[in-house]
Amino acid sequence: MVEYEPVIGLEVHAELKTASKMYCSCENRFGAEPNTLVCPVCMGLPGTLPRLNKKAVELAVKAGIAMNCTIQQGSYQDRKNYFYPDLPKSYQISQSERPLCKNGYLDVLVEGQRKRVRIERIHIEEDAGKLIHDPQSGTTLADYVRCGVPLIEIVTEPDIGSSQEAHAFLETVRSTLKALDISDCKMQEGSVRCDVNVSLREKGSPSLGTRCEMKNVNSFSGAVRGIEYEISRQLRLLTARETIRQETRRWDDAKGLSTVMRTKENAMDYRFFPEPDLGLITVPEELISRIRSSMPELPGEKLFRYTEELGLKEQEAKIIAFDTEKARLFEASLSSKKASARTLCSLIVGEITKFLKDNSCEIRDMRLTPEELAELAGDTEQGRISSSSAKKVLKELLTVGGNVKEITKRLGLEQDSDPESIKKLVTQVIAQQPEAVREFRNGKTSALNHIIGLCMKASKGRADPAMVRKFAEKLINDKEV
Ligand SMILES: [Zn+2]
Repeated sequence: MVEYEPVIGLEVHAELKTASKMYCSCENRFGAEPNTLVCPVCMGLPGTLPRLNKKAVELAVKAGIAMNCTIQQGSYQDRKNYFYPDLPKSYQISQSERPLCKNGYLDVLVEGQRKRVRIERIHIEEDAGKLIHDPQSGTTLADYVRCGVPLIEIVTEPDIGSSQEAHAFLETVRSTLKALDISDCKMQEGSVRCDVNVSLREKGSPSLGTRCEMKNVNSFSGAVRGIEYEISRQLRLLTARETIRQETRRWDDAKGLSTVMRTKENAMDYRFFPEPDLGLITVPEELISRIRSSMPELPGEKLFRYTEELGLKEQEAKIIAFDTEKARLFEASLSSKKASARTLCSLIVGEITKFLKDNSCEIRDMRLTPEELAELAGDTEQGRISSSSAKKVLKELLTVGGNVKEITKRLGLEQDSDPESIKKLVTQVIAQQPEAVREFRNGKTSALNHIIGLCMKASKGRADPAMVRKFAEKLINDKEV
């Protein structure tokens, strides 16, 4: 039985966060009315000339440096010719022969393993318009708002071996572009999309199998499903000794399947040639070194540090490392040395993340300061506050602000560690639980936890749990009840 392994490559398109479009001064903004924010240049009217957006190049260079690429001097842009109604110029300006960034890589974490994905190139290009099909009237309308919106395309080598690795790579790319303010990477606005190349080869073989390209993948979960679908489709063909045709397929996420768009025989011939209206791109060395020296610790690097040095779990570490604001909060509160990384992580990943999600808001909208979060985490660790009280205090810190001490006092959540009152509380609970007491005396240790739980509940979480345990054990063993 021949064993096969998948070989996957990705092409990620991300919209650049510039004020204006790639070759004209039209505003670059999502959600504008159809066919507004257009001008003769991005509409491709005869006689117009493009002018390259400097900021777009700068952002693409930043992405290249973050992904360990070489910045090529003298890169140039090409015309990619094809006729489609969403493209009024009948060509897209892109980069073919000599892209801006070459030969990079990105290390990603996949189930505890460090995986290096090489990046073949990052190039700049412009977006096309959008066709809107109206099934009622049977007509198609063209919207040119997106024509000329600046994009980068990140092309990997076929180094990815599974859908999980592809997902980890996409998440790392997105968080990197977001952290550096290169792109918003909003999936729902289509500001990041990807094409997926999949082939299978005999395990260990140096040669590659016939690949299929899948287009129209506009979510990361769609990429995972599309890759898995394609792997099993190709595996089925190979097992049945049928040949795999080289083709471009369209992923239909709603139906969960891909269909043929075009085969090798009718592959598009784009007739690339250098764009005659634009010159060579020279990136000042001063700019490259400035970007390099101001590069912060990137989300992917944070993830490795959190898991390898701070001992956080991969999934939890990712939630913090891949979110700039959560990472900032986490690190600022950790630096106060009042609480451990684990406790802070569990508060951020648990209660805080849930709160933000439930109220659809961001950390920056909250009143919580890193100092108070550290204080609260420290109190929880030291057992000075119960976990249920900590949740209430945290909610106040998020919405109203203030400090832990004052809130704890105001909400009447201060811990009760008065021996007399705890002894009284435990005595009362034990008196009502003769069954649990008998079980504990007969060696069922879990019965004690039941009693402690009831005591904590009766005190509304305020009783000192360690003291409750001490009294409960003592009182039951002393057979005072
Ligand atoms: Zn324009």
